[in-house]
Amino acid sequence: MASILAGIEEGDEVIVPSYTFVSTANPFLLRGARVIFCDSNAENPNIDASNIEEHITPRTKAIVVVHYAGISCDMQKIMSIANKHGLLVIEDAAQGLDSYHLNRPLGSIGHFAAFSFHETKNLSSGEGGMLVVNDSNYHKRAEIIWDKGTNRAAFFRGEVDKYNWVDVGSSFLPSEVMAAFLYAQLDDLESIQQKRKNSWALYYQGLEGLEESNHLRLPKIPSYATNNAQIFYLILSSPLVRERLISFLKSNGIQATFHYQSLHNSDYFKHLHKEEPALLPNSEKYSDQLLRLPLHYYLNEEEIKYIIKKIHEFFES
Ligand SMILES: *Cc1c(COP(=O)(O)O)cnc(C)c1O
Repeated sequence: MASILAGIEEGDEVIVPSYTFVSTANPFLLRGARVIFCDSNAENPNIDASNIEEHITPRTKAIVVVHYAGISCDMQKIMSIANKHGLLVIEDAAQGLDSYHLNRPLGSIGHFAAFSFHETKNLSSGEGGMLVVNDSNYHKRAEIIWDKGTNRAAFFRGEVDKYNWVDVGSSFLPSEVMAAFLYAQLDDLESIQQKRKNSWALYYQGLEGLEESNHLRLPKIPSYATNNAQIFYLILSSPLVRERLISFLKSNGIQATFHYQSLHNSDYFKHLHKEEPALLPNSEKYSDQLLRLPLHYYLNEEEIKYIIKKIHEFFES
């Protein structure tokens, strides 16, 4: 929906971080745009704001940011680049629910923001999502695209006497069953978040010593960002260490998983663009060395302490 609302067309360029899920890029390719991949920060997997401007051309239409692990991108810098060049900003806030940049909720800063309620997110309806439209100029069209390109919402409000096909659109509506499932969790947001934040803090305290002894790196939260405990990740010193740690944890009944494969190195993107893919070293580092530890609502303190103990054991041996 954001891609349609942004008026993305054949020949446009959209700047997207490479270290992300395919859903960040697909909507723009589907509208005929060319996706231009940008590197991550050295400190965290978010888009490197100082790497954006060099990718801007007269064809650039939008900048897409992903708040990885619910930690805000450098939105002050990114919004000022976008304003300077007259570009739209689309936040992939899939992981950003209940997290902030300075005092603003993620998803309220760019022109559009997409949230996810997939089963891996803090609140879940199994599948589902939410588009936030922060510029009221787009509200009318958004409601039409949302409902299959019809003006049914205006009809329900009594503004027209029958509804009609007025624009492109699709069936972006959630079912009521899904919405009810999600609503109950919204009512309980605070306790759900508190539980996740406690788990995250336990991991951090339990593993700090291993960072001090240079065995791994823990997530860094920039001063402008809050942490909504979406993901707890480690950065290991090499792909081999990660592979060994994954199998050690697995043999102890612990499921730890890596995360995104950089999109610029994907089979599909290489097939689209025959030229050598750009070198995006930070993105590739996260693809090779980042590891996610279990983090979900039903994880208890004892289990987290067991996982911490096993990680210490691994590095001691
Ligand atoms: C989960 C996720 C998505 C996809 O969300 P869906 O609800 O499955 O469409 C997109 N981007 C990021 C960064 C995600 O974490």
